[in-house]
Amino acid sequence: MNAANAAPAAVPVSFEFFPPKTPEGIEKLRAVRQQLYALQPQFCSVTYGAGGSTQDGTLQAVQAILDEGQQGASHFTCVGASRDSVRERLALFQSMGVRRLVALRGDLPSGYGSMGEFRYAADLVAFIRAETGDHFHLEVAAYPEMHPQSRSAQADLQAYVAKVQAGANSAITQFFFNADAYFRFVDEARKLGADVPVVPGIMPITNASGLLRFADSCGAEVPRWIRLRLQGLGDDAAGIRAFGLDVVTHLCEQLLAAGAPGLHFYTMNQSTAVLEICRRLGLAGAGTR
Ligand code: FAD
Repeated sequence: MNAANAAPAAVPVSFEFFPPKTPEGIEKLRAVRQQLYALQPQFCSVTYGAGGSTQDGTLQAVQAILDEGQQGASHFTCVGASRDSVRERLALFQSMGVRRLVALRGDLPSGYGSMGEFRYAADLVAFIRAETGDHFHLEVAAYPEMHPQSRSAQADLQAYVAKVQAGANSAITQFFFNADAYFRFVDEARKLGADVPVVPGIMPITNASGLLRFADSCGAEVPRWIRLRLQGLGDDAAGIRAFGLDVVTHLCEQLLAAGAPGLHFYTMNQSTAVLEICRRLGLAGAGTR
């Protein structure tokens, strides 16, 4: 990767949403999507509740995105699922017109009984390919700072490579604030023969406690200097937003300058920060499809 590859005006962007739980949330998300469509996303994805919760909401939100003329992608977890239930769901996705899935293992909700018939996301990817050929573009998750349950960084890298070998077309990373971890991951994966695009997952910083809680739960590292600055800002919501915009825009600039193939935003169903980051990057309405 090198800076000469950077071409911000042609950077593909994608947006991730979670399924809203209330009628107000559904309406709010509809408005958020309309604002973000101005950036001409490559696709918009909707998360999927492992073990069953919120899956109907996912399907409804993906259908709404498709009905709005955009490429809607569904996340799809296999933990707790059987081959038959996955087969049925794939048929439903096909009948809806879904062409892109984010294939994941997921985490079982506490108290949930069985692991199901799929052990790892690589098993799901292989099964989807065997059942549906090339119908779906398959994304998988990548962890530049290591998945929290992994035995070692090397084992986690091998697990990622296995997903690519099973048939993944591209990957989206867990969010991170350390660009070097991303570049090292991409380089090492390539050396092991996994050379599909790895799109960095970008988390805007809008709320300090929410960010730190989320990072702790998914093993993403918030560098000490960012934690301290956020702590220092206390309840100053405007200060946190301004600091967050500077930090995340700079991260995106570093990533794009060194050849990251796109940006996938964890929108948290909000548009303001994403729009501002893209405006600062010169991506707003830049014809990114
Ligand atoms: P895997 O790739 O199967 O890895 C899980 C763990 O098993 C890792 O520690 C890995 O190193 C290890 N492993 C894999 N294969 C092997 C092997 N052969 N031998 C030994 N160890 C192995 N969760 C949701 O519930 N819903 C969502 O919509 C959702 N969306 C996400 C989107 C993105 C972009 C990301 C990064 C994560 C998302 N998650 C979601 C979270 C994800 O489900 C969890 O991180 C989960 O714990 C792992 O899922 P995975 O697909 O990465 O699993």
